[in-house]
Amino acid sequence: MKRPIKKIKAYTMGNGTKLDIDWVEDFDGMAIENYTGILLDSRLSPARFREVAIHEMLHACDFNKSEKVVKRTAKEIERFLRLLGLFK
Ligand SMILES: [Zn+2]
Repeated sequence: MKRPIKKIKAYTMGNGTKLDIDWVEDFDGMAIENYTGILLDSRLSPARFREVAIHEMLHACDFNKSEKVVKRTAKEIERFLRLLGLFK
């Protein structure tokens, strides 16, 4: 599904960590600790893209969080923001 997504190349987190943002097509997304980057597939559905973007940012914020916690939290945040009417 094609839709406009602003493809930024870099993002500086509030704690000063600089992330390289790259775009992939082989998998939904990934946060890489040593590379300090996030990979995202912009072809995902809007809801899935948001969930993956939130998911990978949660990893980048704390690589010690378990996959289970990150997955559950990302899904919950995406759902909550959608219910607030932030997305069409
Ligand atoms: Zn994960």
